[in-house]
Amino acid sequence: MHADEPHRRGEEDEDGGVYPAFSTLCERHGLRATPQRAAVYRELRGSADHPSAETIFRRVRRRLPNVSFDTVNRTLLTFASVGAAAVVEGFGDSRRFDPDTHNHHRLVCVKCRAIRDVRYPPYDDLPVPPELTRDFEVLGKRVVLQGLCPLCRQGPQRG
Ligand SMILES: [Zn+2]
Repeated sequence: MHADEPHRRGEEDEDGGVYPAFSTLCERHGLRATPQRAAVYRELRGSADHPSAETIFRRVRRRLPNVSFDTVNRTLLTFASVGAAAVVEGFGDSRRFDPDTHNHHRLVCVKCRAIRDVRYPPYDDLPVPPELTRDFEVLGKRVVLQGLCPLCRQGPQRG
């Protein structure tokens, strides 16, 4: 990340939004609704920057100063295991999380590791090589574009 400015998605209200309300999520998956989990869910859901567990931890700690990194990390993995978060694959560094579990594509800056979602229907319609579909069931497709973000293209890093 270039700056510490949070990359927020719009806050959805508890009932209507893109993501299920925390209570609904817990009920659906038999999770205990702890304040820590609620805070992690809230932060993740409000993040458009594919944060790492460390980043979520720093944000949650502002509200819950006593929360431990381990709790935050385990909570994120729990959300991932019930399908409430996606793990961004293909990074050698920290595991990154995405609140959007629907199929979409990504743009990755190879320098600062900024990740943005890409929605482009032609990518969804990419054909799968027929020889693969004979014995392999394709459940999803993801295009990952790699390059330099506008800030990294400008040369020397600022701030
Ligand atoms: Zn960059």
